[in-house]
Amino acid sequence: MKSSISLGKIFGIPLRLHYTWFIIFALVTTSLVFYFPGDYPTVERIAFGILTSILFFASIIIHELAHSILAIRNGIPVKEITLFVFGGISQITKEATRPNTELLIAVVGPLASLAMAGIFYGLSILLAQAEQTLIADLMQWLAIINVILALFNLIPGFPLDGGRVFRAIIWRRTGNYHRATRLATKVGQGVAYAFVAGGVVIIFVAHLWLNGLWLIFIGWFLHDAARATYQQTLLRDSLSGVKVRHVTDYSCPLVSPELTLESVVQEYILPTGRNCFPVAKETLLEGVITLSDLKKIPRTRWDTTTVQDIMTPVNKLKIAYLNQDILSLLQEMGKTDHIPVVEEGKVIGIVNREDLNRFLRTRVDLEMKLRP
Ligand SMILES: [Zn+2]
Repeated sequence: MKSSISLGKIFGIPLRLHYTWFIIFALVTTSLVFYFPGDYPTVERIAFGILTSILFFASIIIHELAHSILAIRNGIPVKEITLFVFGGISQITKEATRPNTELLIAVVGPLASLAMAGIFYGLSILLAQAEQTLIADLMQWLAIINVILALFNLIPGFPLDGGRVFRAIIWRRTGNYHRATRLATKVGQGVAYAFVAGGVVIIFVAHLWLNGLWLIFIGWFLHDAARATYQQTLLRDSLSGVKVRHVTDYSCPLVSPELTLESVVQEYILPTGRNCFPVAKETLLEGVITLSDLKKIPRTRWDTTTVQDIMTPVNKLKIAYLNQDILSLLQEMGKTDHIPVVEEGKVIGIVNREDLNRFLRTRVDLEMKLRP
């Protein structure tokens, strides 16, 4: 993800900040500055506002770390933890294979939040006794926010932790992973509609525009996330066993590196309508040339420029293998549109994003029909 910046690693897990996080950090800090009573000096309120914000986000990181550490302990790798506008996300790479494991990984996040609420509350009492009222207020706010965080996450609908707990329980009872997933998704969408409806009521009955809009925003986000989680589950299931060789385009012509751009246009692009070609000597991969590489060169130079002058060389390319799992290809592919497929150094074909997307859409579409 390029829309985020790295904060380094914690327990070996990369930690990233999504840009939307800065919006929420500014909002939380500003509202905190006004939350503290006005009889404290402004500088102190700003300083404590920032400090509280940082501790708040540290709480979210600890919540996510709890999920991640338990996932890793159970043999499920965690790619990274990202903080964004709604809090944190642990990118856990696989689903748990047993309901009890899923239950444990899901429930430990809210438990961590509750534990932190307890710690902050204890500190607030101690500090109040020591007559450190401002910092005691700050600790109390952190205790409350951690309780809210735990309760919100325990709502029994996807994609929230409570949704996973709910799915694990249904899964354990029925032994049917798909039914449990579908049910947790339905409940998650129901919760999302309830948030939207609540927001509308607050706007039109109580005339609290900002609070209402905020609820609608959360509802809309939850609805999208529930659907996305469900589709991901379907996709993952439907793609198990599918290999790169199933989506490879074998008919893509290979282009010689010495060819001029003019010849590529006349002999390859115009007759085939293709926009990307593997560049190869014999069948040995040297690079990839795309229509957009070519368009960067002025028309007057097409006669004198060769393919190897402008191609992406092989050492800068991502490469796929025939027997590679399609799921691992999807993870590696990122934003790349074309990946050459290579076997024993020879180019076999190419995987195009468009073909792949059509393949995925068809599979998910069918999967929805096959498992209604
Ligand atoms: Zn969580």
